[in-house]
Amino acid sequence: MNAVKYTKIIATLGPASANAESIRTLIRAGSDCFRLNFSHGSGVTMDPLVDLVRQVSREEGVYIPILADIQGPKLRVGRLPEEGVSLKDGTGFILTTREIMGSADEVHSPYEYLTRDLKTGARVLLADGTIELKVERVEKQDVHCRVVHGGRLFSNKGINLPGTHVSVDTLTEKDRKDLEYVAGADIDLVAISFVRRARDIQQAREILQNHKIPITAKLERPEAIDNLNEILQAADGVMIARGDLGVEVDFEKVPFIQKQILERAAVRGKWAIVATEMLRSMVHHPRPTRAEVTDVANAVLDGADAVMLSEETATGDHPPLVIDAMMRIIRQADSMDQGVHSTFDADIMSFAAGAAGAAVSAAVRLEAKAIIALAGSNVTALLLSKWRPRMPILALSSGDSTLRRLNVLRGVVPVPIRSKSGMEEQIRMADELLVQEGWARVGDTVVVVGAIPLGEGRETNSIRFHRIRPREAW
Ligand code: PEP
Repeated sequence: MNAVKYTKIIATLGPASANAESIRTLIRAGSDCFRLNFSHGSGVTMDPLVDLVRQVSREEGVYIPILADIQGPKLRVGRLPEEGVSLKDGTGFILTTREIMGSADEVHSPYEYLTRDLKTGARVLLADGTIELKVERVEKQDVHCRVVHGGRLFSNKGINLPGTHVSVDTLTEKDRKDLEYVAGADIDLVAISFVRRARDIQQAREILQNHKIPITAKLERPEAIDNLNEILQAADGVMIARGDLGVEVDFEKVPFIQKQILERAAVRGKWAIVATEMLRSMVHHPRPTRAEVTDVANAVLDGADAVMLSEETATGDHPPLVIDAMMRIIRQADSMDQGVHSTFDADIMSFAAGAAGAAVSAAVRLEAKAIIALAGSNVTALLLSKWRPRMPILALSSGDSTLRRLNVLRGVVPVPIRSKSGMEEQIRMADELLVQEGWARVGDTVVVVGAIPLGEGRETNSIRFHRIRPREAW
């Protein structure tokens, strides 16, 4: 019997992959979703890529969602000579809001509250934490620092201020414009960077207005971990953005924060992504390190719905090889996963949550080969997936954007149906697919979940058991 791939892969598009042939290759290799990084583009400049993904997905007959990743208030240094400058341990270095061309002594930062936020003794990390400075004094537009760990600094590299309250709004002017663009574009999912509290998500929702685009909170600031419960309530999903998170908090805490977030996301019924440096060495090498393989497998076992690739597929030497490696690790880890044994938090209990738990439990006892979520039960499909049953969840819908969004849920296979298909027709289509894909045989048991009568917008209210019938009996 064929194995299903449960955990999903999000691949970032960039210069190494942003063309029709690469997108096709990545889809065939196993990408389930493409991420557009708005740190490297804005608004309508993304239109051609959106069109490309749609065109190739249509040709391939797959439902691939597009995730718009909004940049957020990433603080950066300004311009430096092209070859960069070398910061030496123990020397002085000035961060300034004066608009100067940088040198080995000082660099401009466009961050307007730099001198207000930074206090004597604060730590400043540059270039993903590879360079560390300590603030000695603040004078007018200049922050005088001492270099604790030096290194080479290039133009536009990031600044992180661990332990410092950053005054800037979570949504910048650029983010607001990009969200307005997303609201009108053919985009399925959006991620907000540097979220600190639920209010950040609510503000993004206000800009997206009535466009029901699910919002993922990127968790990369310590305040987000402190406010995890309210963020999980406000957002549709979370991303453990380990790149900035591992600089903003002590890196040794990241594995435990990852486990905590994934556990909380599961009991709150929210989608969760593990991101960054998953197969980082494969940017230039054809094989992953053993540590990376273990990291990806652990993300699967910790309960990630999706794992994300960044520069590996955006700028790397061989994006398809990266997806192949990811697929191998995921297939192995999926097959070892034991699923979830806890239930949802009491305050999110609903017919859908009750049906999801009961359906998974019945499916396990009956050794069912699949669970079918009838059209109109998409939330139930999400909640079913949070139990991580060891069988595919077929989620039926006649809406293209719904089908694409379902494609990123762990273990969920989106199945297109004609609009207004009746229950028997939907079950027949699902049975047909199960047999065709080699996931089940005639006579096998499947569990069906739905809101009956269909099409009336009811809550999920029914669980039905059923044996796959031979084709001629339909
Ligand atoms: C991260 O910091 O881990 C992350 C995913 O964000 P970005 O790639 O936008 O820096």
